[in-house]
Amino acid sequence: MATVMTNMEDIVTKPREIISRKKAEHVIENLRRRNINGIYCRGTNDAVAEICRMIPEGASVALGGSVTIMQSGLLDALRGMNIELLDRYRPGITNDEVEAIMARGMTADVLLMSCNAVTSDGKLVNEDGRGNRVAGLIFGPKKVILMVGVNKIVRTVEDGITRIKDVAAPLNCIRLGLDTPCTHTGFCDDDSCHAPARVCSQITIIESNRVKDRLTVVFVGEELGY
Ligand code: SF4
Repeated sequence: MATVMTNMEDIVTKPREIISRKKAEHVIENLRRRNINGIYCRGTNDAVAEICRMIPEGASVALGGSVTIMQSGLLDALRGMNIELLDRYRPGITNDEVEAIMARGMTADVLLMSCNAVTSDGKLVNEDGRGNRVAGLIFGPKKVILMVGVNKIVRTVEDGITRIKDVAAPLNCIRLGLDTPCTHTGFCDDDSCHAPARVCSQITIIESNRVKDRLTVVFVGEELGY
């Protein structure tokens, strides 16, 4: 006979934890078929420790623009490591310095970023405003590690792009105070959105990876980032 759940832990928390793990495990299996590594961590602390372990001492480490990296505490952990951190979030940094860091990041040993969406069949969907993040994801850094909250798992590429337009881009535009349609209404209006404010410039879909162990997705069983 089925057990009746009566407390909130059993009713709300556990089913969410179980579905998060099951979804991540399903996607990880499909990532493997694309020669992309995947692991699942239940919480951010475990994920941060796991990612720090993957970075060799002395490595140059670039950061793709990522609320996840800041929110999770990964950025703070990186700042305490014996690495060459290309820290685009350093207080007081100038625009020229950020530009130089982004260019240097193209040849870094490691690129850390999140991902706008990961599909159930293992495709990585992203859209950039500047292009440095998706450029490094495609080619350049020897290793790319993506820290991804389970809230970013979607069914299809189309769902991933919808997620970008409905969630990721509007929140980033509001965070950055940009004058875009989604900042004003919360909804994307592609036809009325133009540079330089527009953050949606380059959509990339990673379907496969030829270089063994270059790409690793670290899923976290929590809601993280945009
Ligand atoms: S295209 Fe423009 S309005 Fe649409 S989500 Fe991107 S930045 Fe916002």
